Amino acid sequence: MSIIVQKFGGTSVADSEKILAAARKAIRTQKKGHQVVMVVSAMGKNTDELVRLAREITEEPAAREMDMLLSTGEQVSVALMAMAIHSLGHQAVSLTGAQIGIKTDSSHTKARIQSIETDRMRAVLDAGKIVIAAGFQGIDEDFNITTLGRGGSDTTAVALAAVLGADACEIYTDVDGVYTTDPRVLPEARHVARISYDEMLELASVGAGVMHSRSIEFAKRFSVPVHVRSSFSDTPGTMIVADPEAPDQPVCGAAMLKNEARVTVLGVPDRPGAAITVFSKIAAMNVTMDMIVQNVGADDLPATLKAVEDATRELGAEGFNCDGEVSKISVVGMGMATQTGVADRMFRALAEKGINILMISTSQIKISVLVTRDVAPEALRTVHEIFGLETEPASLEAGGGDGPTEPHQAAAAANAVASIQGMEDLVIDEITLDASDARITLAGVPDRPGLAARVFEEIAAGGIVVDMIVQSIGWEGHANISFTVPRKDLDKCIALTTELASRLGCSAPTSSAAVAKLSVSGIGMRSHTGVARRMFSSLAEVGINVEMISTSEVRVNVVVDAAQGEKALAVLKKEFTDVTV
Ligand code: ASP
Ligand code: MG
Repeated sequence: MSIIVQKFGGTSVADSEKILAAARKAIRTQKKGHQVVMVVSAMGKNTDELVRLAREITEEPAAREMDMLLSTGEQVSVALMAMAIHSLGHQAVSLTGAQIGIKTDSSHTKARIQSIETDRMRAVLDAGKIVIAAGFQGIDEDFNITTLGRGGSDTTAVALAAVLGADACEIYTDVDGVYTTDPRVLPEARHVARISYDEMLELASVGAGVMHSRSIEFAKRFSVPVHVRSSFSDTPGTMIVADPEAPDQPVCGAAMLKNEARVTVLGVPDRPGAAITVFSKIAAMNVTMDMIVQNVGADDLPATLKAVEDATRELGAEGFNCDGEVSKISVVGMGMATQTGVADRMFRALAEKGINILMISTSQIKISVLVTRDVAPEALRTVHEIFGLETEPASLEAGGGDGPTEPHQAAAAANAVASIQGMEDLVIDEITLDASDARITLAGVPDRPGLAARVFEEIAAGGIVVDMIVQSIGWEGHANISFTVPRKDLDKCIALTTELASRLGCSAPTSSAAVAKLSVSGIGMRSHTGVARRMFSSLAEVGINVEMISTSEVRVNVVVDAAQGEKALAVLKKEFTDVTV
């Protein structure tokens, strides 16, 4: 019999009315002939309230006791939900994480799931009852209660769907799914019927948070189709699955991270290990950063500056500067991996609005630019428009719909899953070497609107396909732009950019005739921080200099000298052997 997992978040169980409404949804699903597992979060803002209470007692509550405390929120919800179902004349059994057998490691307040028992849930389901599982919690090997980190009920839901081989995992929330961008910022944002795991992960990382990212990684790993939908209506939501909605469209969504800060270290000596000196100091302050463009959240600025000051001194770099008033605008789409001209279209559209691009970073399915905060909403509107995101893609097949519409893929994975240890471990599925490119750098490009557009349009007009682009801030009022092109096009590209440089009044391009791009891709790269750091330090240790870096949710790319390519590949394979599949 088919199994449907239905997860109800805090707002969907905020009061008794809402609990009853959720109970009715589950009963309706059961009546359609499915077995139903509900996963519930704590009511409303209950978890926040418990955190506040703890803080009233002490500034530094023990993590173990925090978990003991926070897990009570979900325990309240599951009991009330079971009562609601009973009151409607149906059968249900509430279960805590421990009662189900959700085993985690012992890192309290951010535990990772290691394994899940299915026997007890199956027995309850086979007896015709609804299982009501407490989200967000588990138990370690010494029977201590653990929690999975804030928002962790999504992860519980997807994990249960994975081990049970459920047909779908429905996430009920206060929005009716995923939009092409935040509808509160842009009213023309369009609801999307379907989005791929990778696109959702990338969008979540650049500011479009609908679900806990970790749960999407999980869904991807075990091929669980996820349906995000509204608790308060029956309209179809968004299916998060392996394939994108419209593969021929380059972009599926755009997002804005408003409060970013940019820190630039000037004159960093170009030698192995320079980047790792800066990054490890910043990471030690627990500041997350976007490695390529090196921008950090504005709130983290003071801590970052301290770390950067130390690193600057240690490296003998010239100095550093920062800007706390910038925003990051990103576009994401699987289609751009196979299409050319996406980046220059974006740059041109921004240039036409007079918007200056401070930094650029591209990866396989994402392009991010940094702009000043005052023009950020306009920049978002501009990119949303240029990629036609407000209109429904023509090739759209029926996605979403009422109930599960995706084929059941999870079952096969499930048997394997139930037995494997470390469900949430980092998994590297590919380390690749591509030694077919060359790198070109234009330094000291005058920093004004339209420059990036001009550079990449002229290169495209020359019939040259650009792969990775990194634009960083150079000296006062100038930018440095590096990019890779196929090696066969290098001479042509040098001629083109030399001519362009003289017109722009900047120095002639420099290049590296043969570079190698190394990509490490996998699942869990976002939640297991330190993949990039491990890459940099293992390369630095053997004296390999990193020329360019670009990171995304599912991949870290570095560009090194081609002569070092094979050696770098061997070093990385060795570094990640323990987690490679
Ligand atoms: N109640 C927990 C939280 O608020 C878990 C969840 O809602 O997913 O973070
Ligand atoms: Mg919550």
